[in-house]
Amino acid sequence: MVLGANRFDRNLDRMLRMAQAKFDAIRRHGEQTYPHECCGVLLGHREEEGSIVLEAWPAENIRSDAAHNRYGISAQELIRIQQQARGGGLDIVGFYHSHPDHPAEWSKTDLEEAHWIGYSYVITGVNGKAEYGEADALRCRAIETNSFLLSGTGEEDKRFERQPIEVMADV
Ligand SMILES: [Zn+2]
Repeated sequence: MVLGANRFDRNLDRMLRMAQAKFDAIRRHGEQTYPHECCGVLLGHREEEGSIVLEAWPAENIRSDAAHNRYGISAQELIRIQQQARGGGLDIVGFYHSHPDHPAEWSKTDLEEAHWIGYSYVITGVNGKAEYGEADALRCRAIETNSFLLSGTGEEDKRFERQPIEVMADV
């Protein structure tokens, strides 16, 4: 048994952990809003080895001008979610949104509009029928879900780093 010796290596992982039900809820939200992007806030605890998501709160996408490829959460809604989270003893640990008919990879705009250094940005790719098969009864389907940790020290050197998601069995 190794106690502490591999802590440094574990830090490099900076994993994002969540229960299967939360993972499914994030993906379902992306299907519900298709062909528009969904968005929401991830609440939980930030720990040395990464973050744990205990709640995934849907938010309204205020980018109605271009909801198919942009997302935005209003400052008022973010403050309200933050206050309610604190009341429940939780912190914001990240954000999520979907990419209708695009892969679950961050875009240039995603990086430009991300300002929470050290937080997780989860992206789900949602494909419409033409992409995954006309015969299926569903109009769209969540394909891949990836997490990216916004790293760096500020706006000048911020970057997204791929962050493993560990989906845990529900307890
Ligand atoms: Zn995006």
